[in-house]
Amino acid sequence: MIPKSHPRYESLMTRELIVKGVEKGITSIHGLIAQGRGEAFDYLIGEKTTESALKAEKVAAAALLLAKKPIISVNGNVAALVPKKIIKLSEIVDAPLEVNLFHRTEERVNKIIQHLRSLGAKNLCTKSDALLPGIEHERGKVDSDGIFRADVVLVPLEDGDRCEALVDMGKTVIAIDLNPLSRTAQGASITIVDNITRAVPNISKFAEELKNSKKDALLGLVDEFDNRKNLADAVNEIAAHLASYQY
Ligand code: ATP
Ligand code: MG
Repeated sequence: MIPKSHPRYESLMTRELIVKGVEKGITSIHGLIAQGRGEAFDYLIGEKTTESALKAEKVAAAALLLAKKPIISVNGNVAALVPKKIIKLSEIVDAPLEVNLFHRTEERVNKIIQHLRSLGAKNLCTKSDALLPGIEHERGKVDSDGIFRADVVLVPLEDGDRCEALVDMGKTVIAIDLNPLSRTAQGASITIVDNITRAVPNISKFAEELKNSKKDALLGLVDEFDNRKNLADAVNEIAAHLASYQY
């Protein structure tokens, strides 16, 4: 048991969830490395949602509400860390969940689907009958009625190549990635530089707030957003946080 008073409680609990995910067979062993890299960036960010992240989270909520065919991609880390929160977001913005794994095995896909269903997920795309162009077979498998046809795709912790393939297909790609320098962060349409544990509930909160807004207001939010500028702000916020650190 990790005591709540431990100064690194949140971070250690998150780590524990990933380890449990690996033990249950829903998270890949590679997920541990991804989590470690994320944690390192979260430390530099100050383990809080920055202004730039909050802005991207609001724009992401608007883009999901405006979408004709939104979808939320779920991998083994997402399923371990925020399963209930991602199901809630899926319900609020009416976007199905699709399990989409970098280290894909049918066994793990099915385990994640069962895991999500056991927690109440009803809206799931479960076919694997289409391929993302330019992505090697197993990694490119998607649902022809899900990610393949979607106009807006939320990809928490996506790989750079697949993010690029989705953008090349003309989709609006919303990435959640603690590393503002990763290929995914650099290539996405809307990049949220925040921990998924904070980002997903924030997007849900904004979606609830914006749900009854006029379409024009939502379009304005999305059109005004400049991802390159916001990424530069994210890097500057890290630099400012480091500069303010008491050595
Ligand atoms: P890319 O392929 O985009 O260049 P990468 O190869 O460096 O990225 P991957 O291992 O493909 O990275 O994906 C892991 C990414 O997810 C890392 O950039 C990491 O910072 C990020 N990440 C890991 N855990 C979290 C988390 N809890 N919340 C948000 N981002 C995270
Ligand atoms: Mg990668």
